[in-house]
Amino acid sequence: MAMKITEDCIACGACMPECPTNSISEGDGTIYVIDAATCVECVGHHDSPQCVSVCPVECIVKAE
Ligand code: SF4
Repeated sequence: MAMKITEDCIACGACMPECPTNSISEGDGTIYVIDAATCVECVGHHDSPQCVSVCPVECIVKAE
């Protein structure tokens, strides 16, 4: 259970401070990265994944 950032990411940084488990990092600088080991899809924190709500290019999806 985790979210994933796709290659459409423009590295704007908007999602990072919204994550309640601090699972988002800058990665290699090209696209941001969500740590699947700690992402809980905001369950227990918010009604929906907060990163998805703030991402301007809608590049955050459910990880398979
Ligand atoms: Fe990338 Fe979206 Fe996060 Fe911005 S909000 S860094 S475009 S995933």
